[in-house]
Amino acid sequence: MLITLILGLLMTVVGLGFAAKRVLWLKNLIMSGQPAPGRTDGAGERVKVHLLEVFGQRKLLKWSVPGLAHFFTFWGFVILATVYLEAYGALFDKGFAIPLIGDWAALGFLQDFIAVAVFFSLVVFTVLRLRQAPERQQRASRFYGSHLGGAWITLFMIFNVIWTMFLFRGAASAAGHFPYDSGAFVSLGVGNLLEPLGEDVNFVLDRVGLLAHIGVMLAFLIFVLHSKHLHIFLAPVNVTVKRMPDGLGPLLPMESDGKPIDFEDPDEDAIFGRGKIEDFTWKGLLDFETCTECGRCQSQCPAWNTGKPLSPKLVIMDLRDHLNAKAPYLIEGKEMPGTDMLDMKPENQGSHAVPESGFERIVGSGPEQAVRPLVGTAEQGGVIDPDVLWACTSCGACVEQCPVDIEHVDHIVDMRRYQVLIESEFPSELGTLFRNMENKGNPWGQNNSERMDWAKDLDFEVPVLDAAAGESLDPDTEYLFWIGCAGAFDDNAKKTVQATAELLHLAGVKYTTLGKEETCTGDSARRAGNEFLFQMMAQQTVEMLNSVFEDREPVKRKIVTTCPHCLNTLGREYPQLEGHYEVVHHTQLLNKLVRDGKLTPVKPADNGSGPSVTYHDPCYLGRHNKVYSPPRDLIEATGMKHAEMPRHADRSLCCGAGGARMWMEEHIGKRINLERVDEAIETLGANGDAAGTVATGCPFCKVMVSDGLTQRSSENVGSNVGVKDVSQLLLESVKRGATPAAAAPAEATSSDSED
Ligand code: SF4
Ligand code: SF4
Repeated sequence: MLITLILGLLMTVVGLGFAAKRVLWLKNLIMSGQPAPGRTDGAGERVKVHLLEVFGQRKLLKWSVPGLAHFFTFWGFVILATVYLEAYGALFDKGFAIPLIGDWAALGFLQDFIAVAVFFSLVVFTVLRLRQAPERQQRASRFYGSHLGGAWITLFMIFNVIWTMFLFRGAASAAGHFPYDSGAFVSLGVGNLLEPLGEDVNFVLDRVGLLAHIGVMLAFLIFVLHSKHLHIFLAPVNVTVKRMPDGLGPLLPMESDGKPIDFEDPDEDAIFGRGKIEDFTWKGLLDFETCTECGRCQSQCPAWNTGKPLSPKLVIMDLRDHLNAKAPYLIEGKEMPGTDMLDMKPENQGSHAVPESGFERIVGSGPEQAVRPLVGTAEQGGVIDPDVLWACTSCGACVEQCPVDIEHVDHIVDMRRYQVLIESEFPSELGTLFRNMENKGNPWGQNNSERMDWAKDLDFEVPVLDAAAGESLDPDTEYLFWIGCAGAFDDNAKKTVQATAELLHLAGVKYTTLGKEETCTGDSARRAGNEFLFQMMAQQTVEMLNSVFEDREPVKRKIVTTCPHCLNTLGREYPQLEGHYEVVHHTQLLNKLVRDGKLTPVKPADNGSGPSVTYHDPCYLGRHNKVYSPPRDLIEATGMKHAEMPRHADRSLCCGAGGARMWMEEHIGKRINLERVDEAIETLGANGDAAGTVATGCPFCKVMVSDGLTQRSSENVGSNVGVKDVSQLLLESVKRGATPAAAAPAEATSSDSED
């Protein structure tokens, strides 16, 4: 007994000593980041999130099989803590039982049950890892680029926790000092098997098993603190201090030292974006250290899935590995080496087994890692390649899927901000975009006087408010119809605003437009990293809107728009500049008008046999703003046959236009819009000559899908598939009712693809 006690305590003191040193180091490293204000606001809501996501494993359970296995493993860690309490008690008293509940059969059962569940979860993880091994599936594997060795060690360590637990509990039972007479079914079963060995042998087995059980836990603890399994401790913290409600929708304002930057008079030492790893906030550094390398983000990323070098997982891993390599110079007081350390001669470069990982361009974690530029080409030794940085469409699929709430989009945009504002390094196409937005107030570079051209051919008058002349909003006017630059200047999108205006007119909605007073909201500039330009444009627009809505309280400042990017910027980013409006997407308003009986869609007489329409979720409507049902309800109301694409709703695939990608060429891999269009054509069963429609609710998506269909049509694929906004489908359906003789099956023709 005494020897066991001394060995057990000695192991614990040494193990916890190493663990404490590492914990302190990690704490200092993470807290060396910039301040991140507001991360503890709303404690009540954060506790709720913590309970749902950590104890309820809500996000993980979205992936049923691995989610369930993780659910049991997590609860295994919680429940088996009671076994460790018993183990430490047994060092002092071989028959130790937890006071009050320690010989309760239900507790014994729960401990054994969860240990068995964890064992089967290990089998599931093993099968998943073998089936999805990167060697077999290459880039299709979500584990491609992850540190695989560490994952196998972890599974092995957890297995050791399980068998040592049953060994010491079984031997204790056989030796006659196990606290449970029933309930602990596996331990008692092992005890029955060991009983013939006699009390003395079982006592020795009990002591050996006990020390092994404690030793495995301590070794596992130290391993976890030095590996990606650090998430066991960091994930609960990261989830609790995440952006509320999530890291989607609005981008955060640019802050330096925890305060928003005043672009008119910035501090001399203000940090613009992230140009070095230490420029990230402590929440950013916590994100990097928390990544579990599970690859869920990678598996959903449109850039990764079309052959581009961007993987959100590898971005986070590269940033973490660079941070850890730089730690001695950030928190241990070591002097930073000179940049001449960095010699990117081919012989000095790493084997680069995973070509997309920028960190691995240089071998090891030596001083040469510390002086690397955060963003740069292979020749420059950059940790993140420009091709990686600029491939992001800001679609948010990574953020949506990440089980530990890492905020990839914010980090990518923050690095873009530094590249644009300080380095002036960005894809050349963005130069044209910035110039057009600055000089003409829209990305197309069109004259603002042409903003209302879309309304010319309508057979009713579209109201226009002359805000410049000081005209004020009529008290009867309920909505301001925000047209957006695409709606005003893109022929494809004009049809959407025309259809929406006609529907509002038919439903008798009192609305007005701003005519040539409207300017771009600045969404593309902000996502391209040009925060200065965004702030300039946004301030002007907020000023103008605030004067238009002057006498109205914020809840009555209603705006409807057909563009999800405008919806997101006006409704969720302008509050950062004191612009507070109630913004809805046209599909939300139209859905309400149908429900209220102000619009009556009429179903076609015969809607054929195959699916005739599939809905493409725009990222900024769906994932970023959680509007999934209204467009679907409208399609349902039109009576068209609707089929979902395999990737839909929160797992929808981006069209490729977000994050200012609309304005950049796509040089690497398959075009994202072609990937999406192929999925749509397949879903519509239109590989042959069948007709069908891809419905959407975003002008950018419409352009991208239309371009993709045109390309496929030129290859004689899906030639009879067209693209329409949901409002166009609704208008057709409503008009069907107005002219019953014209009622006919909804037909998509090749001319639709010009839409
Ligand atoms: S936002 Fe979309 S494109 Fe960008 S990294 Fe995440 S998943 Fe990939
Ligand atoms: S989903 Fe989150 S935890 Fe998993 S690899 Fe991606 S960033 Fe890391």
